[in-house]
Amino acid sequence: MRTPYRLLALTPFIIAVWIATVVAQQPLRQAPRTPSASPSGPQSGKKLALAGGMLITGYEVPPIHHAVVLIEGNKITAAGPASEIRIPPDATVVDTSGRAMLPGLIEAHGHLVVLGHGDYATWFPWIKAHGGDAMQMKVMEIAARQLLMAGVTTTVDLGAPLKPILAIRDRINKGEVVGTRVLASGPWISRGSGGAMQDGFGGQNISSSEEAGQKVEELAKAGVDHIKAHSGLLFDDYKAIAAAAHKNRIRVHAHVYSESDVRHALDAGIDVLQHVGSAGTAPPYSPQLITDIVNAGRPVVVTAAHRAWIYQDTANFPERLQDPDMKKLFGPDIYNEVQDSLKNWWTLGYFQRTDREMLYRERGVKQFIESGAVMGMGTDSGTPMNFHSEALWREIKVHVDMGMTPMRAIAAATRVNAQIIGKGRELGSIEPGKLADIIVVNGNPLFDITALSHVEIVVKDGVVYKGGSAMDVRPPSTANAAK
Ligand SMILES: [Zn+2]
Ligand SMILES: [Zn+2]
Repeated sequence: MRTPYRLLALTPFIIAVWIATVVAQQPLRQAPRTPSASPSGPQSGKKLALAGGMLITGYEVPPIHHAVVLIEGNKITAAGPASEIRIPPDATVVDTSGRAMLPGLIEAHGHLVVLGHGDYATWFPWIKAHGGDAMQMKVMEIAARQLLMAGVTTTVDLGAPLKPILAIRDRINKGEVVGTRVLASGPWISRGSGGAMQDGFGGQNISSSEEAGQKVEELAKAGVDHIKAHSGLLFDDYKAIAAAAHKNRIRVHAHVYSESDVRHALDAGIDVLQHVGSAGTAPPYSPQLITDIVNAGRPVVVTAAHRAWIYQDTANFPERLQDPDMKKLFGPDIYNEVQDSLKNWWTLGYFQRTDREMLYRERGVKQFIESGAVMGMGTDSGTPMNFHSEALWREIKVHVDMGMTPMRAIAAATRVNAQIIGKGRELGSIEPGKLADIIVVNGNPLFDITALSHVEIVVKDGVVYKGGSAMDVRPPSTANAAK
């Protein structure tokens, strides 16, 4: 009796989602590569329902009120108004009433090897002196957990030593470590870089374009998910890197600030333009460059918050550096080391150019928002005072403060991010067939975007990792066995 009505009522939603999917996926190439985003083991057909809250799907359409999301195994099977979705009797129901549900956030630029310490020149030697590889693994485990608990279900790591970052990625996928899903570049490729940062992040210098292409081949063979092109590169280097990466069906993210670097990366076919002037080292770009980026549909990830805004926010509220959750998670050794490094944070080399950056910080973001560029959302999380536990909602807030609508900002951090990293088919929105990455926040982020800092429930791959009283925090294998 109810079925025809139900189908009828659902039809506009399905059509809207279908149209949005088709339209949204047109301009961007999908890398048809076996997803390392999928969990390694087979999932049981366990059913989960998130029921009652407002649903933001990841598309820029009005939210669905009093919604239900059904999950089977690690996939979403249905999503819509509660009045139209039948919850199977054998499903575990997580009550989301009075809250907002949205897709798991995607961090399009993170670094798991750092935890917000103030100085690379002391952080990396400190790791070496305090357990070496074992400490590095511990640091990455902490970072991965911080991200997941902040609702970041997927993180694009853009610079880390090769073996450790692939190891943590794979351990998380196997359920051995509770953490964000990691997609990794391994070492970045640069020219003429040196020092503690280059060493600690495992950066590799090349001295010819041919060598750049070879480096990409090596990394692709080793199993990286994408390539990070770092600084000092020439136009021909970008071309060689893009060609080798695309041959291997992976994408390239370029770390670019100056107008000429951005121009080279754009013209050479680099897939994602990262930073794009956010450090304030250059005034806003020429209208021609912006127009060309927009016309090319080339995604930008501004990483706006990490210097100029974080600095100001810390000046206003230095207490943020002593977050008790961080203290608990880091343990005394790491916590004390990080605290020591931030004692006189305003004198750190990392913030040396902040005065100048403050002059340009607003125009730097607005130029892209107002031009209609394809914008993802990434933060450089883990850099000084830019903690994994909050970097992404701070970045999103900056974009909203600079004029992006909350809906567009959420879409940027979910559906658009998924597309620009080549995972648009599996991640980034709440709709049937996608991986079940869903978060529940306290408050309406469309009214107040900082509701994203109050993540109460985190579901990744269909497993509840935070909140949702129905289950406790367990990796997928044990969680399935116990039910
Ligand atoms: Zn970078
Ligand atoms: Zn970075």
